[in-house]
Amino acid sequence: MPRYEFRCRACGDTFEVNRPMAEAGRPATCPQGHADTVKLLSTVAVTGRGGSAPSGGIPSGGGCCGGSCGC
Ligand SMILES: [Zn+2]
Repeated sequence: MPRYEFRCRACGDTFEVNRPMAEAGRPATCPQGHADTVKLLSTVAVTGRGGSAPSGGIPSGGGCCGGSCGC
């Protein structure tokens, strides 16, 4: 069963809800009882930022410099 992450706009808490995909768009209630919640994007979609791999095409992982210094 997919897991969805919600954030409560009343208390700022984030919580996860396991529910079938058919109910993914339904509002969730905060564990504190607040109904003003928003569904967050999946954690997979959030990792797009941070710039760990510049667009220069340098392979990541391996040596300290990608292998060009022989280390
Ligand atoms: Zn709340």
